Amino acid sequence: MAYKIMDYKGLKLVTFNRLEALGILKHGFSTRLGGFSSKPYDSLNLGVKTEDAATAVRLNTQKLCEAVGVNFEDLVTTDQVHADKIRIVTSADKGKGFIIERDYEGIDALITNASGVPLISYYADCVPLYIVDPVRRVVALAHAGWKGTVMKIGKKTVAQMMAVFNSKVEDIIVVIGPSIGLCCYEVSEAVVAKFNTNFTDVSSFVFPKDEGKYMLDLWTANRLVLEEIGIKDRNIVVSRLCTGCSTEMFFSHRMEGPNTGRMASIIQLS
Ligand SMILES: [Zn+2]
Repeated sequence: MAYKIMDYKGLKLVTFNRLEALGILKHGFSTRLGGFSSKPYDSLNLGVKTEDAATAVRLNTQKLCEAVGVNFEDLVTTDQVHADKIRIVTSADKGKGFIIERDYEGIDALITNASGVPLISYYADCVPLYIVDPVRRVVALAHAGWKGTVMKIGKKTVAQMMAVFNSKVEDIIVVIGPSIGLCCYEVSEAVVAKFNTNFTDVSSFVFPKDEGKYMLDLWTANRLVLEEIGIKDRNIVVSRLCTGCSTEMFFSHRMEGPNTGRMASIIQLS
């Protein structure tokens, strides 16, 4: 298995063996277990945009930070608009989101080479990408829902790492975290049409189902996007955890509707 599930005072945190083995960073993906929120946000809801009590979301976020081993006060957040704008984060951004108001917007991916700056981004089915260059010591998080995947945000984030930090594509490792799998993700003709405009061949990740309905494999689509820019097959790790299949473990927008919680990915260079 590509991951482990760690327990911190009842909070269950997913960690990825490949990233842990690098020994240069702290990271994790939250589950819905071990937080303070009540139904339908039970219990580790991290979504500040949900109708959940703000105090509970804050307590949940603080507990998650303790579990991962990063400072809550330093968290750098995104607003995530299902687009492809990327921000290079520096130490000057520490705390932007909870402690200091963000002075940027429309961001779906964060990149930093600064140590001690924890990046966080939010999910309930969309694909979390953890992108790490262990040689140049650069880390990134990218939010790839179907729209971000169509826009190839994974590849664009890697391109930024190469342009700004001189990362070499062969060094880069990507983890595709818990998200909605092929088993649970039915989409319409209109969604497939968008993929057809940006991909030459969708046959490895789009599968016709009933009339006008398709099953979509965002994990494979993201793998193709990453391979397009030259990420090595062996450096792409798919966690294979489907949020739709395990609502006892994860929040799922598709399975539970809009009134559910949000999970988060966190990464920080030590
Ligand atoms: Zn599933």
